[in-house]
Amino acid sequence: MNTVTTGAVDNLRASLRGQLLQPADAGYDAARTIWNAMIDRRPAYIVRCAGAADVLAAVTFARDHGLRLAVRGGGHNIAGSALCDDGLVIDLSAMRSVRVDPLQRRAWVAGGATLGDFDHEAQAFGLATPLGINSTTGVAGLTLGGGFGWLSRTRGLAVDNLLAADIVTADGKLLHVNASDHPDLFWAIRGGGGNFGVVTSFEFLLHPVGPQVSAGLIVFPHAQAKSVLTQYRDLVDRLPEELTVWAVLRKAPPLPFLPATAHGADMVALAVFSPLPMAELKDALDIMRGFGQPLGEHLGAMPYTAWQQMFDPLLAPGARNYWKSHNFTQLGDEAIDTVVRYAGNLPSPQCEIFLGLLGGRASAPAPDATAYPHRDALYAMNVHTRWENPAEDTPCIAWAREFFRASAPYASGSVYVNFLTQDEGERVVDAYGPNLARLARIKAQYDPDNLFRNNQNIRPAS
Ligand SMILES: Cc1cc2nc3c(=O)[nH]c(=O)nc-3n(C[C@H](O)[C@H](O)[C@H](O)COP(=O)(O)OP(=O)(O)OC[C@H]3O[C@@H](n4cnc5c(N)ncnc54)[C@H](O)[C@@H]3O)c2cc1C
Repeated sequence: MNTVTTGAVDNLRASLRGQLLQPADAGYDAARTIWNAMIDRRPAYIVRCAGAADVLAAVTFARDHGLRLAVRGGGHNIAGSALCDDGLVIDLSAMRSVRVDPLQRRAWVAGGATLGDFDHEAQAFGLATPLGINSTTGVAGLTLGGGFGWLSRTRGLAVDNLLAADIVTADGKLLHVNASDHPDLFWAIRGGGGNFGVVTSFEFLLHPVGPQVSAGLIVFPHAQAKSVLTQYRDLVDRLPEELTVWAVLRKAPPLPFLPATAHGADMVALAVFSPLPMAELKDALDIMRGFGQPLGEHLGAMPYTAWQQMFDPLLAPGARNYWKSHNFTQLGDEAIDTVVRYAGNLPSPQCEIFLGLLGGRASAPAPDATAYPHRDALYAMNVHTRWENPAEDTPCIAWAREFFRASAPYASGSVYVNFLTQDEGERVVDAYGPNLARLARIKAQYDPDNLFRNNQNIRPAS
């Protein structure tokens, strides 16, 4: 129960450069709205921080008053961990600055910046670092869980490119962490999520990318999905690092390059990305086109920032979403059969199954090089169930769970922490595997009372 006095709240408000929102305040409901419309939580306090000083004040206030504490970066986490009921939310959405040093190829990124913010600033200099596939996702939550996307096969995960961070810990201190200062904590935040404190600033290594890249879609009818996926699986074994191909099974959106008869029909799309020019991809693209009789394709040179936003319309905030996820080290015939069977029986038109391809530099580090351990995962499969009407909750969630169970025998048993839903706390052990014990020891050192527990929680070692 919340026993905070009015005087204490007034003192908090007066100490902030940013804003304190309570339930009766204008803007409160907007501030408690996140990407997944399934999440409806009512925090007692939302501190919209303007900088690290506000974060320090908010952490201290929550700790001293025994309040549940949540941290919001981009607000995309499927489990809704950006919000809590009754407690205090540290909302970083006003802290979106990105500073780039093009000569040193470094970027300093504030804790509430989105992928779009990052790419916008870095691409002004033809630079980028591996992030995810949807520009409105938060850099913070994505990076703290690992972070993979189109550049990961050539440049690793987001955490592999993190050089340093500023983090406010549970004892109300701001620490600068890197490979030599607080190396254990620096290791832990490279995959350990929001368990260790509030990151106010990240320092990333940048790489030359684009500004023009080669990317696009080749779309086949669902009737050819088994053959396409089997040939895709075989091609992946000899795919160069510079080529990334994800497989997406869903109903076709009304894309102008597809015949009208295909719109709304089940399909499998190969989403292709490469930093190489189109001319150098011709042979590989011809092989993929030959996987079946494509319904259509849209492939070519385009700005990297355009490709980074390509899937935004399908992933807009405000829909109801429920995810289930497996990692795969290989894709056997039975796994493909299962994927094809369930993709042919989607419970609602916006649902999709995707196989995100890893490998290459994403698999190069040792599993204990960072807290993110899944260096053997070749495919991260996400069962993305998505719909609008609450009346569809039960069938959509049931379909996702059933498919998850049916595909489990072929999966590795591990899972990417950033794809876990709110009812999957027991899978934290699968998300961290051999790194969990070390994470728990570091948690005991920096957050012994588990102040940062509104997440896929790593309990402090006793
Ligand atoms: C549409 C969509 C597309 C996605 N695509 C990808 C993808 O391509 N690749 C990929 O790797 N992941 C992807 N994800 C998953 C994504 O990485 C997670 O949802 C991630 O948690 C989002 O981070 P956020 O800051 O937006 O979320 P939030 O919900 O704001 O934060 C999630 C959690 O991270 C922690 N956190 C956030 N900010 C901070 C901070 N500054 N300091 C400390 N802790 C913090 C907190 O524990 C918080 O609860 C996608 C998610 C969505 C919804």
